[in-house]
Amino acid sequence: MPENNSSSIDIFSMLSENKAEKKKFQRKELLSSSGMKDLFKGGDICINKRTCWGLECKLCIKACPTNALFWQTGEVKIIKDLCVYCGACVLCCMVDDCIQIKRKREDGTTETFSKPKEVIKLDDKINSQKRVERIATLFPTVDGYCEKYGKF
Ligand code: SF4
Ligand code: SF4
Repeated sequence: MPENNSSSIDIFSMLSENKAEKKKFQRKELLSSSGMKDLFKGGDICINKRTCWGLECKLCIKACPTNALFWQTGEVKIIKDLCVYCGACVLCCMVDDCIQIKRKREDGTTETFSKPKEVIKLDDKINSQKRVERIATLFPTVDGYCEKYGKF
């Protein structure tokens, strides 16, 4: 009996892995049609329908690079499988906290934001980190200190 249990567990985990791989592949295919690729390890997005300006606005739909947002039956809808959590929709939304995004980086850190100023701050942080890494690559012997990110 224990043998049967362990083999059923193995089959179950194999099926789950296959399903996850298949989903990952489908997502990659869908994104490649818009020339985009995954920027983050994962995430989630939601829109507050009560505060959204909808019909008068639709700015987020125009800004989305993957066409994850669309207009249907009087409201903005999301195809979550197409969202790469880039934040372009939050950046152009005229209502604070209307679109909420949570995303996970490769290093495991999580970022949550729902206001344009938060997107700008995060982008600035990413660009500064890239700048520091680039300097360290180009001038490995230079010992520097960045007030924001410490020693490099
Ligand atoms: S974060 Fe917004 S703009 Fe970016 S892909 Fe997702 S829905 Fe589109
Ligand atoms: S940009 Fe914001 S307010 Fe405008 S339609 Fe999109 S979610 Fe609604």
